[in-house]
Amino acid sequence: MVKEFSFKLKNSENKARRGEITTAHGTIQTPAFMPVGTAATVKAIKFRDVKESGAEIILGNTYHLMLRPSAELIGQMGGLHKFMNWDKPILTDSGGFQVMSLSKIRKISDAGVEFSSHIDGTKYFVSPERSIEIQHLLGSDITMIFDECVQFPATYEQAKDAMIRSNLWAQRSKDAFQKRPGYAIFGIMQGSTFADLRQQSAQALINIGFDGYALGGLAVGEGQEEMFKVLDYAPDLLPQDKPRYLMGVGKPSDIVGAVARGVDMFDCVIPTRSGRTGQAFTRNGTINIRNAKYRTDDQPLDDKCGCYGCKNHSRAYLHHLTKCNEILASMLLSEHNIFYYQDLMRDIRQAIEENRFSAFVADFFAIDSESEKDN
Ligand SMILES: [Zn+2]
Repeated sequence: MVKEFSFKLKNSENKARRGEITTAHGTIQTPAFMPVGTAATVKAIKFRDVKESGAEIILGNTYHLMLRPSAELIGQMGGLHKFMNWDKPILTDSGGFQVMSLSKIRKISDAGVEFSSHIDGTKYFVSPERSIEIQHLLGSDITMIFDECVQFPATYEQAKDAMIRSNLWAQRSKDAFQKRPGYAIFGIMQGSTFADLRQQSAQALINIGFDGYALGGLAVGEGQEEMFKVLDYAPDLLPQDKPRYLMGVGKPSDIVGAVARGVDMFDCVIPTRSGRTGQAFTRNGTINIRNAKYRTDDQPLDDKCGCYGCKNHSRAYLHHLTKCNEILASMLLSEHNIFYYQDLMRDIRQAIEENRFSAFVADFFAIDSESEKDN
């Protein structure tokens, strides 16, 4: 029997929540980090290794997949799970963010967005209905509504106009979504850094009713301090019994701080992108493996990490590979960073379960601030 989509809150400590999401393709322990598989691949890592890291869900990008190879082709190949051979849950974004940030916008109206592809200039039109149709063809377990993101900083009027249009699009997205067991649609709260707009946005979304709620329009250049100010109140505006997803976040310290403020789900390109530029996250802080001090360092990146690179290679070897721009450096460091992020989420979950998350946060920030000084 196919299971219904659900969110079970297992326990909590202050605002931090420990939960479990059930979808058509399996369960996800929360707080959870979703590696980003933009073009139907988590860059430079085999799915076997993504799975071994403990990741239970990955994210696919509607914008990128609709341009190449197209939603219709993926649908014809049996959907995104089958096409890339990943049998666990998938969340797809709606394309809204990339349409605004990557493409050349031709025209935006209540009807939708007309834009040119950043790849070859081909014209496209995406409406809330089309975005939901694309995500249906991809077969995502979690579909995101089509929304209008404003850049940071935005004026109050810009943020308000985008929020009002996003509310309109939220209703149309929900109406276009084909409900079936195990599949969900999430609303996205907008409102930039304005508390009253965040409040209005949350209320409009709750009135429509979604399976989960995302916090959009954050991690767009406002910095951690500003983001935490919004997170100090915004998650509290959302229902307790539904998952909360902070889109596009973030650095390890952003995640730890957001979990403490009541967020359950995250996605970000940072672990893989950093891996391709020689940056590695470890239990002792962030290190840049290109640094000359690692030239003769025979220790693994992180002796508590279970990834292939940490079990088989030294920092000196990784340093050498990055200096030669070898592909293997990107592969090993990306995989290591994904393992680090999944280990971090496991540690966070365990700390909440054992009611010692506050101490975990204090310890984490003590080490994190030290490592920033070091680099
Ligand atoms: Zn490792």
